Amino acid sequence: MSKERFEELRRQLDAVNQDILEVLNRRAELVQEIGQLKSGKGTERFDPIREKEMLDKLVAANEGPFPNDTIRHLFKQIFQASLGLQEEEKKSLLISRKNQAADTVVQVGNLKIGGGNAPAIIGGPCSVETVDQMNAVASHLSQEGVLLLRGGAYKPRTSPYDFQGLGVEGLKILSETAKKYGMTCVSEIVRPEDVEMSCEYLDVIQIGARNMQNFELLKEAGSVKKPILLKRGLSATIEELLYAAEYIASRGNSQIILCERGIRTYEKATRNTLDISAVPILKQESHLPVVVDISHSTGRKDIMFPIAKAALAVGADGLIIETHNEPAVALSDAKQQLDLNQFSTLLNQLRESGYLKDAVKA
Ligand code: PEP
Ligand code: MN
Repeated sequence: MSKERFEELRRQLDAVNQDILEVLNRRAELVQEIGQLKSGKGTERFDPIREKEMLDKLVAANEGPFPNDTIRHLFKQIFQASLGLQEEEKKSLLISRKNQAADTVVQVGNLKIGGGNAPAIIGGPCSVETVDQMNAVASHLSQEGVLLLRGGAYKPRTSPYDFQGLGVEGLKILSETAKKYGMTCVSEIVRPEDVEMSCEYLDVIQIGARNMQNFELLKEAGSVKKPILLKRGLSATIEELLYAAEYIASRGNSQIILCERGIRTYEKATRNTLDISAVPILKQESHLPVVVDISHSTGRKDIMFPIAKAALAVGADGLIIETHNEPAVALSDAKQQLDLNQFSTLLNQLRESGYLKDAVKA
């Protein structure tokens, strides 16, 4: 073969490579567009039947010199790479930092949660029990400058024989107490059909750890115009928490506060194991505010101060602290709730060590 012919063939090969590149990328663009349509419809991206049809068509049209098996193999690689492209897109969730660089700030009354605002303190009892109990707690917390009052009315308890909460009566007591002391309130809702009704009473709707993957509840939470406090499931990964938040965001509600509340491990010294690294990871991966529940994560009062400091040091936008006027007789979580003095002591310690800035009245 002459040198000229050799060079000529190489030039042709280079040109064909360019053509393949162009065609491959054109194919990729089409795949991306199809992916977007599928995501809108919630259709699964990998479609094995469609893939088989495409391969069969290609093999039927193949005139060689490549054998059919090689054609199948090569195109399978192309399909795989295309699916990878769609996966990349999938990672760009609404709640993702990739989608929004700026922090989401969730505003509840005068309280701004996230975006570098002073840490939000969410305090109140595990359960709403009586009007007197709520008055006692709220009057104390409001004097401490706490703006967001918590209290459970629907309690997902391990035993069906334990106190289950006062239901809508509890929501009413919580809401009226919060108003009386110039506070806003948050409480857990466990049934999708209660979400809309709860908006009348609540400023923030909590989705508890045991319901983090109650997808119908998440969808319902996404359809209302109230901030949602979404707690990490007992055995949920960070990715699962983010996808749970995406369920809410995908329905149009981007006012979401993520909550690290400890996960199940073999460790028994604490009620759960506080996954402190989840805080900076969640804040890197998403633009949503992240708060730490220092009560349910630890289940013990004697380490509240160091745990609260740790949470704020890694960037938490707020803390949930269970507080009761008489923890010893509380109808749920008696062991872990701070009494009113202990609550004030903890806040003072945090203020004195510079962790609270102007979060609560100095
Ligand atoms: C609560 O905050 O009242 C509660 C039940 O917490 P969790 O869902 O995190 O267990
Ligand atoms: Mn509790």
